[in-house]
Amino acid sequence: MKAIHLFSVLMFFITGIISPLRSYSQDTESMLCVGNYQTEKQAKKQLKEFKKSYPTLDKWKEKAAIIRQGILDGAELSAFPEKCPLNPIFTGQRVYDGYSVENVAFESLPGVFVTGSLYRPTGDYTSFAGILSPHGHWSDPKTGGRFSEDVQKRCASFARMGAVVFAYDMVGYGEMKDYGWIHKYPKTLKLQLWNSIRALDFLESLEGVDSDRLAVTGASGGATQAFLLTAIDDRIAVSVPVVQVSAHFFGGCVCESGMPIHKSNHHETNNVEIAALAAPRPMLLVSDGKDWTKNTPDVEYLHIKDIYTMFGKPENVENAHFIAEGHGYEYSKRQAVYPFLAKHLNLNLQVIKNENGYFNEDNIVIEPYEQLIIFDKDHPLPEYALKMNDDIVWK
Ligand SMILES: [Zn+2]
Repeated sequence: MKAIHLFSVLMFFITGIISPLRSYSQDTESMLCVGNYQTEKQAKKQLKEFKKSYPTLDKWKEKAAIIRQGILDGAELSAFPEKCPLNPIFTGQRVYDGYSVENVAFESLPGVFVTGSLYRPTGDYTSFAGILSPHGHWSDPKTGGRFSEDVQKRCASFARMGAVVFAYDMVGYGEMKDYGWIHKYPKTLKLQLWNSIRALDFLESLEGVDSDRLAVTGASGGATQAFLLTAIDDRIAVSVPVVQVSAHFFGGCVCESGMPIHKSNHHETNNVEIAALAAPRPMLLVSDGKDWTKNTPDVEYLHIKDIYTMFGKPENVENAHFIAEGHGYEYSKRQAVYPFLAKHLNLNLQVIKNENGYFNEDNIVIEPYEQLIIFDKDHPLPEYALKMNDDIVWK
């Protein structure tokens, strides 16, 4: 009898301890809006209801503040960790026609290295704009992400136009993958957003970069990073999310919807409203006819434009829609982005314009993976570097 009694008491305590943990994780789970979280019809209805809730600019600003806080709370970044010294490392500058490329790493947290490629103008400029170039889930480390031809071409072109451009690896992609970092990790969203904030710190720290002319652009998961950073960081002056902002699709990866940034016990939002937090800062939505951005001209863009109109700045948001195209940031889409960024970042468009009115990407050297990585046998990863997601200490 005594043993049974003890067992019951023990179970009572264990259940008492476990239950709150379980209900916390169930709560968190129930707040996640993942992938195709709702149908296109439901999404339209939701936007209609959202719109009714902010008939005035003040009402939108109230909602905007709640959404911004919801992202920070959901990503567990409502209190920022201490910003450690970036301790940047630069290797091997290559000088090409109108731009140069260097391999770069910096620390976003002590021992957490963010790796990337830095493109600088070699033209005659007195100061530079700064552009962050996050990438999406193009998975082959040898050809995807910042190593892809598309990313190298756009970064080199922006540099020719007068911008310092930083293209950086997503968590667990690119070269840090070789050191045990993985992408599909429960709190990747948190680290990836923090890395973007620190990437902006890094860009701002570079000589000649004008803090009033900072922008971010990426495609797919790179666009998710772009609009999340724009939503929470006022230093971004111009945002160009490519093929991602959707009312019904919330992003299917842990880095996009794996933490509860869209919903809490007291609010609900979607990526259209999150992207609209850019307002009234200039934003170009690039969309296409074959993915979840197919409705953009009639749905997402119109909703966001109404918000810009409340600010008296409808001209600051544009949509370039490619109805016959699919998911990507290819040449045709870059043709829309170059003039938009030139207009709003005061870049030199003439330097890439040809006699037919198109923008040249001639003589851009596509470098191989081996040339773009920073850590190799001559420049080994520092001994104290963290080599796994588990090792992170958030202070
Ligand atoms: Zn991801």
